[in-house]
Amino acid sequence: MRNTCSCFYRQLNDKLAPGSYSYLIIIDGVGLICTCLWRKQKKSDRFLNETIAWYEAHYPNLNRTPIKRVGGKGDFTINRSYKQDGRYYVGESGGLQDFMWGFGMRMAVWSGVLAANDILGKSDYEADVRKHLMPYVRTSVANRWLMNRVGDRTFKRMCKAWMKDQKKRGDGLIWIGKLFRPSFFKSILYRIVNPFMLTKDPKSMGRGVRRMPFRKALKRDVWEPSDRAVAIGEQWNEFRRKGAKVSFAKDTETEKKSQ
Ligand SMILES: Cc1cc2nc3c(=O)[nH]c(=O)nc-3n(C[C@H](O)[C@H](O)[C@H](O)COP(=O)(O)OP(=O)(O)OC[C@H]3O[C@@H](n4cnc5c(N)ncnc54)[C@H](O)[C@@H]3O)c2cc1C
Repeated sequence: MRNTCSCFYRQLNDKLAPGSYSYLIIIDGVGLICTCLWRKQKKSDRFLNETIAWYEAHYPNLNRTPIKRVGGKGDFTINRSYKQDGRYYVGESGGLQDFMWGFGMRMAVWSGVLAANDILGKSDYEADVRKHLMPYVRTSVANRWLMNRVGDRTFKRMCKAWMKDQKKRGDGLIWIGKLFRPSFFKSILYRIVNPFMLTKDPKSMGRGVRRMPFRKALKRDVWEPSDRAVAIGEQWNEFRRKGAKVSFAKDTETEKKSQ
C-alpha cells in the first residue's frame, strides 16, 4: 500500500471475522489487512478476500499492492500446572492468552517476568501465575462465552457505548479496560460455563491441560463471496504465481468441527 499515513482501523463484523475481529494497519505505506476466525476456519482465504474487499470499498485511497499472506493459530488453555520438571510454561506455550480476542502479548511478557523472578529465587512461578494472571484468564473465558452469544447488532451497541464513553472521559482505554478486568459477575460466570467450554487434552504430559476448542460454523457463516472478493482472490493467485509467499496454509491443522 502506498499510503503514507500511519493508521489502525479495527472492526467487529461477524461476517468477515466470525466470532472475532478484523483490522487494517498502515505504517509508512506498508499495510496489513487481517481477519481472525473463531468459527469456519476452512478455506480461510475467502474471509480474507472479503475483508480486503470491504476495506477497499470503505477506504478508496488504499492503492494496494499484494506482497505476502501470513497467518497464525492461537492456543487457549487452562492448565493444572505451569511449571513442571524444571520447565516453565510461559505465554502461549502455557495457553496464557486472552480467550476473547486472542491477545497474548501482555500475558507472554508478564508470565516471562514471573518465570524470571522464580529462576532468580525471588518468588514461585506457579503461585504467581495463579495470583496475578489467572483472574484475567478466567475473565477472558467468561468474555468469550458472552461473545459467542452475540452478533453484529450487539457489537454495534458496544462500539457506540465505547465511543460515547471515550468522548465523555477523553480516554478510550477506560471503557475497554473494564471489559478485561476481573469482576464478581465474571468470576461467577466463569465457574458456571468453564466445564462446558474447556475440554481435557490427553496429550498434555500430565500437566492437566484443558483446551478451548474453536467453535462450530453457524448457518450465517455460509455465504457467496462478492464479485470483488473473487477478483481479489484471483489477483492474489497471480502474484503467487510470480513468487509471492504464503506463510500459513494449513487448514488441516484445525479441528474438523470449527471448519
Ligand atoms: C496475526 C496475529 C495477530 C495478533 N495480534 C495481537 C495483538 O494485537 N495483541 C496481542 O496482545 N496479541 C496478539 N496476537 C497474539 C500474540 O502475538 C501471541 O499471543 C504472543 O506473541 C505469544 O507470545 P509467546 O512468546 O508466548 O509466543 P511466540 O510469540 O509464538 O514466541 C514463541 C517463539 O518460540 C519459538 N520456538 C518455537 N518452538 C521452538 C523450539 N522448539 N525451539 C526454539 N524456539 C522455538 C518460535 O519460533 C517463536 O519465536 C496476535 C497473534 C497473531 C497470530
